[in-house]
Amino acid sequence: MTTRISHWIDGKHWAGVPERAGEVFDPATGEVRAQVDFAGAGQVNDAVAAAARAFPQWRDTSLAARSRILFAFRELLTARQGELAKIITSEHGKVESDAAGEVARAIENVEYACGAPQLLKGGFSENASRGVDVYSIAQPLGVVGVISPFNFPAMVPLWFVPNAIACGNTVVLKPSEKDPSASVFIAELFAEAGLPDGVLNVLHGDKVAVDGLLTHPVVKAISFVGSTPIARYVYETGTRNGKRVQALGGAKNHMVVLPDADLGLAADAAVSAGFGSAGERCMAVSVVVAVEPVADELIAQISGRMSRLTVGDGRDPTSEMGPLVTAAHRTKVQSYVDAGVTEGARLVVDGRDLAVDGGGFWLGPTLFDHVTPEMSIYRDEIFGPVLSVVRADSYDAALELVNANAYGNGTAIFTNDGRAARRFQNEVEVGMVGLNVPIPVPVGYYSFGGWKDSLFGDSHAYGPEGFHFFTRTKVVTSRWPDPAQGGVSLGFPRNS
Ligand code: NAD
Repeated sequence: MTTRISHWIDGKHWAGVPERAGEVFDPATGEVRAQVDFAGAGQVNDAVAAAARAFPQWRDTSLAARSRILFAFRELLTARQGELAKIITSEHGKVESDAAGEVARAIENVEYACGAPQLLKGGFSENASRGVDVYSIAQPLGVVGVISPFNFPAMVPLWFVPNAIACGNTVVLKPSEKDPSASVFIAELFAEAGLPDGVLNVLHGDKVAVDGLLTHPVVKAISFVGSTPIARYVYETGTRNGKRVQALGGAKNHMVVLPDADLGLAADAAVSAGFGSAGERCMAVSVVVAVEPVADELIAQISGRMSRLTVGDGRDPTSEMGPLVTAAHRTKVQSYVDAGVTEGARLVVDGRDLAVDGGGFWLGPTLFDHVTPEMSIYRDEIFGPVLSVVRADSYDAALELVNANAYGNGTAIFTNDGRAARRFQNEVEVGMVGLNVPIPVPVGYYSFGGWKDSLFGDSHAYGPEGFHFFTRTKVVTSRWPDPAQGGVSLGFPRNS
């Protein structure tokens, strides 16, 4: 019998009969492992109503009590991180060590949110004028929606949920329908940690559920992560409906290698950042910009390492790269490899021939050389294990290439020249920059976000900008009339 994955509304599994459902696959075998309920308008209303009912009490819950629940959740998540990693691998396909890394990064965000009592302190100015004090309060928004992508089914929900609830909001989370179980596991752990019913709800589904949240009058804000076309749509639709929106989109991350770089280090980085999680990471390196004369040597070192990569079922501890998430996605990625060949790039390593036992969604690591900016493999986000090398004549040409790209999520430069690195961090038009670090995902106490087509809105995710996004400030100007002074505060005339 196939497992059923249902919504989590008001602290319990939804027991209704779904109008629509989707299939969840095990990407390593290609088999259907579960059916997931798809929300219609009724379930969207039920989830939002549960969150709205929970809000008044949750916003008035003391900072100490909120923080204690987050600490308890952190302990439970740490104790059961192995279990969550296995759930991620079974529906996403990434290898278990990578899934464990995802959970570890998620825990960082929970730990940050545990600091809510400190982080929500406002400002206070005594005697802004004589007898007048001015102070600020950060208040929650109300019901907020979180819509997440398939590629980090635990980490991305946990970029937002802990911070949103720490700030006193209640949440409706709509995870990816491709790997929905991690979100349910998270909601159950939160309940075990003492989170009151309705503060966190999980709604499964597709565009119907997303549109329901984007247009629902009670939902005050939307945090979205996904591909650029959907991020743009979510931003435009949500803001048109009066909501605060942060919508993080796709990426095409360039790694620039200067002639003085340690090429062994750069090749290691290109392979791990290009093919880790089968390239299904928004911070994956998809373009290596080799500044001549290093291209030939760098390509030789990268392809040598690729031939030693073990591709296989993520549950096998010897596997270093797993399958793609669905058959449809595999077909799309392969069509880009075909297009790269047709458009004239040199195929150095062809992943299309990879054979792995079983019926999974396999595509091997693939490397192209002599890629140019007009080619579709350069322009589009492929989101698979396909690495393109573009050759550049100089640092200036490399910088120009990175800055001309429509995306601006992450980038890295490999060099031993501190002046060149410092110039790059100043001149590059990208939100997250690595200096000899291929995947510069900020730690939980900074904020995550790209520039240009990689983010719509003005708030980055988590960290200080996360707290800013999930609160609105109120400034209070106060005066307490002093009876000894005839009822008038010193310095202020009556009725002023
Ligand atoms: P996606 O855009 O297909 O889906 C993201 C979410 O939007 C899912 O919950 C999905 O159900 C929903 N959705 C899909 N189509 C929709 C539609 N037409 N209308 C309304 N909602 C819709 O993205 P994905 O394939 O799940 O994830 C991969 C993408 O996410 C890549 O582009 C990747 O770069 C991006 N991503 C970005 C970041 C970042 O921080 N910038 C992080 C992770 C992933």
